[in-house]
Amino acid sequence: MPGFEFFGAKERAEVQDVLDSGVLMRYGFDGMRNGHWKARELEKALAERMQTKYAQLVSSGTAALTVALASVGIGAGDEVIVPTFTFVASFESVLALGAIPVLVDIDDTLALDPNTVAKAITKNTKAVMPVHMCGSMADLGALKVLCKKHNLLLIEDACQAIGGSYKGIPLGAYGDIGCFSFDYVKTITCGEGGGIITSNETYYKNADHYSDHGHDHIGKDRGAEDHPFLGYNYRISELHAAVGLAQLKRLDDFLKIQKKHYTILKGSLENVEEVTFRRVPEGGVENYSFLNFFLPDEESARRAHSTLLSAGIDGCFYWFDNNWHYHKKWDHLKNLTTLGPVSEKVTKQADKNKTADFSQSDHWMGRSLSCLIKLSWTEEEVARRAKTMTEVLRNI
Ligand SMILES: *Cc1c(COP(=O)(O)O)cnc(C)c1O
Repeated sequence: MPGFEFFGAKERAEVQDVLDSGVLMRYGFDGMRNGHWKARELEKALAERMQTKYAQLVSSGTAALTVALASVGIGAGDEVIVPTFTFVASFESVLALGAIPVLVDIDDTLALDPNTVAKAITKNTKAVMPVHMCGSMADLGALKVLCKKHNLLLIEDACQAIGGSYKGIPLGAYGDIGCFSFDYVKTITCGEGGGIITSNETYYKNADHYSDHGHDHIGKDRGAEDHPFLGYNYRISELHAAVGLAQLKRLDDFLKIQKKHYTILKGSLENVEEVTFRRVPEGGVENYSFLNFFLPDEESARRAHSTLLSAGIDGCFYWFDNNWHYHKKWDHLKNLTTLGPVSEKVTKQADKNKTADFSQSDHWMGRSLSCLIKLSWTEEEVARRAKTMTEVLRNI
């Protein structure tokens, strides 16, 4: 997955353009910037690559989620459905807006289960936020039908699956609005950064203004711009955007390498009878950043995980026990351990998140391993990994 493995001459050249002018800010300073608008250029390239009308860059993937939620009008008391397997940013962004994160089970796609989502919808539900974890997607078709039926917004967190697609549409572009992270360990990186894509003009304008204190970005004098509504500062810097510009141009090359490595590993593991693979919804194409598979039960998954590690296979995750990605370790969310007071509505839902039955999620995550696909592996390394992994898993 990580684009940082291939940080090189192209990234340096883009950053050098910015260093030469010294204009590190994405807005203004027209005369000084030698014609370089890295953030603007990256937004154009991102929208083009993702087949959306608009893209908005921000300072992180978490900021992208927050700005996306704000831009579609989510606020205090609104319920947003998020999965039990995700990164903490899912509920952090919802809480940041005073909205209410509602945890819902995943299925064998390792993403939101449309059936459990349907059961979690209340009169306060405003949005469903599937998270395309580890390179593959939720059942987006079923989720869209559900959202249409109940008049809900579909907000895609494609932070871990950039470049994947569903029914020919890039992940992030299928719902009402989609989010990417360009942090240091994602498929392409800005160092830190995030992106929002949408084809809805209003959502885009809202994102553009909201991420910059509400600036309407009309005219050439920032100080004289108007503020049609309250915003915040989630701006990306030109330096970060410059890195991303070089990386986005390399995305399709990165995906090709990931697919090649993934295909060799999967082809080998297919020979192990007890190993089954995560379901990719019909019409879905992964971005191949992880190979995700199931063992027959929790005990064998744990054993496989530790044996793979001792056999020198790094980068395999047993998310079931992970502090950041699985609900079992989110006591701070369930107990609402916050620095300041929280609204009563948020508190009520926290109690529900705490006592809910997530045995369906536990069933899948307890048996699941995810192995990171690296770009920098040599052919021999991939072959050796495939052989070692297959042997280890056969013996489990
Ligand atoms: C990385 C990530 C984020 C947050 O991105 P940052 O840029 O690190 O803030 C959000 N969601 C998912 C699924 C992620 O993997």
